[in-house]
Amino acid sequence: MVTYQYRCPACGDVDVRRPMGEASTQLSCPRCGAGARRVFTGPHTRLVAPGLVAALDTAGASAENPQLVTSVPTAAGPPRRPAHPLHARLPRP
Ligand SMILES: [Zn+2]
Repeated sequence: MVTYQYRCPACGDVDVRRPMGEASTQLSCPRCGAGARRVFTGPHTRLVAPGLVAALDTAGASAENPQLVTSVPTAAGPPRRPAHPLHARLPRP
């Protein structure tokens, strides 16, 4: 859903949420019913979820200034999956 902005001569600016690409150039004002014209605005970035903003900022900072590794990671290795019980019945070399 996208927030589109319309300007009603009586009510002023009115925000309407519609699926992307389904905004008409005019619609009847949801408050008073008068004809409202669509106003083209910048994207409403303030409506982005705060967690997404933090993730995008972190990704951007990592791309510009990646953290350096200063020591060798411990040899934990990948997590081992438990063996399937039927593997014990497989022929051995
Ligand atoms: Zn109106």
